[in-house]
Amino acid sequence: MDDRRYAADAAPGEEATVAGWIHEIRDLGGIAFLILRDRTGKIQVKFEKDEMDETTLERALGAQRESVIRVEGRVEAEERAPTGVELVPSTVEVLAEADPELPLDPSGKVDAELPTRLDNRTLDLRKPEVKAIFEIRSEVLRAVRDYFRSVGCTEINTPKIVATGTEGGTELFPITYFGREAFMNQSPQLFKQLMVGSGLERVFEVGPIFRAEEHNTPRHLNEATMIDFESAFVDHHEAMDVCEGTLRAAYEGVAEHCTDQLETLGMADEFGVPDGEFPRLTYQTAIERANATGELDDVLVWGDDLSTEAERALGADVGGHYFVTDWPAEIKPFYIQDYDDDPETSKGFDLMHPRMELVSGGQREHRYDELVAGFERQGLDPSQFDYYTELFRFGMPPHAGWAYGVERLVMTMLDLPNIRESVIFPRDRQRLSP
Ligand code: ATP
Ligand code: MG
Repeated sequence: MDDRRYAADAAPGEEATVAGWIHEIRDLGGIAFLILRDRTGKIQVKFEKDEMDETTLERALGAQRESVIRVEGRVEAEERAPTGVELVPSTVEVLAEADPELPLDPSGKVDAELPTRLDNRTLDLRKPEVKAIFEIRSEVLRAVRDYFRSVGCTEINTPKIVATGTEGGTELFPITYFGREAFMNQSPQLFKQLMVGSGLERVFEVGPIFRAEEHNTPRHLNEATMIDFESAFVDHHEAMDVCEGTLRAAYEGVAEHCTDQLETLGMADEFGVPDGEFPRLTYQTAIERANATGELDDVLVWGDDLSTEAERALGADVGGHYFVTDWPAEIKPFYIQDYDDDPETSKGFDLMHPRMELVSGGQREHRYDELVAGFERQGLDPSQFDYYTELFRFGMPPHAGWAYGVERLVMTMLDLPNIRESVIFPRDRQRLSP
C-alpha cells in the first residue's frame, strides 16, 4: 500500500488512493457521501449514482459502518466538504467487513461507559479524543527519554521476575518459577541502585511494575509503567533538579508536538508548561500548612503519611507542582538515607501534583553498615537481600534517584478523571483481559 495517501494530505487535482474505516454513509438518492476515516482525519467520498457502475456502488454503499475500505479516485476541491476536498472514486475495494452490530460507537454519537470502552479498546481508540491521549503519552515518553540522554543517562532494562520485593511484602504478586516461589517486580529500585556502582553511573529505565494494590482507586493500577532515574555522585536536591527537568521536558514536548491532539481534547488554550522551580517544602512545613487549611478531618502529626485529603488540601493551597522533602525516616523505605545529625529525618522526597503524588525519590544509603542496620530497624531480614547489599561492599558511590508513574503524569497533565484513561489495557482488580 505504498501509494496510499492519508486523508489529511489528499490535495485537489491529484489521483489518490486512500484507505481507512467507513465513518458514515449518507445516501441522498441520486447522490451519496461516504466519510472515510484514517489516523489523520476524515475525507468525503462522493458517489454520483448515474455516473458510476452498479457493482462499485453496491459494494461501497452496501458496506457496514466501520468496515475497512480502499478507494482510488480523483481529489477535487469542494467547499462544502468538511475538509474542503472530496474524492470522486474510480474503484472501491472492501478490505474487511464490520458486523452491523457494534459494541461501541466510534463516531462518539452514543456514549459508552468506561468498562464497555475498555472491553472494546480497539473501537474506543478510533475516537480522536481517545487516540489523542495515547499520542500524547507517546510524546511524553519520547521527550523524557531525550531529556535523560541530554543529561548523560544510559537507558537500562532490569528483570521483572524477582526473588524478593522492595517496597513491602503485601503488594507482591507471587508466581511459580520452575517450582520455586518468585514475584512480579514492584519496582526496579534495587537493580537501578546497583547500576550507579557499575561503570554506567547514571541510568534510567521505562518499564512495567506490578503491585497487588488492595483497593480499586482512580489513581492506582495493578500494572503500571514507571520512569526510574538513578545517578551516582548526586544528592537528593540534584535528583530533584533532574526530576523537575524531566517534567518540564514532557510538558514542553507535548506543547510543541501535540497541538492537534490538545485541540482535539479542547485543551489548546489552557495547556501550559509549568514554569519556575517547584517549591520544596519540608515535611514539617507541609503538615503544618495542610493543618492550617482547616480542611482536614484528622489533624496530621509527625510520622503520618499524607492522606488523600491532606494531598488535596495542600495541593489547593500551593496551587501547582511542589516537592515535599525531609520525610520522617520511619515512613520511608530502608534504602533512603537519614540525616546523620538527625536520624529521625530522611533525605526522601515526593513530587506532588495538586491532585496527587507523582514521584518518590531520595538520597540513598550507600554505606554498607548503615544499610544493613536500616533493614533491621524496619524489621526486614537483610540476608534475603544479600544479592543487593553484598555489592555495597565493593565501592558504591553516594547516589540519589526517583521514580514517576507514567500514567499519573499523563493523567494529571490532561486532567483525566481516572488513571485507566491513560493506559490502553489497564490491569485492576476486576480486569485481566483484554
Ligand atoms: P501511593 O502512595 O500514591 O500509592 P506509592 O508511594 O506507593 O504511591 P511509590 O512506591 O512511591 O508509590 O512509586 C513511585 C511512583 O509510581 C508513585 O509516585 C506513582 O506515581 C507511581 N505508582 C506507584 N504505585 C502505583 C500504582 N499502583 N498505579 C499507578 N502508579 C503508581
Ligand atoms: Mg511514594
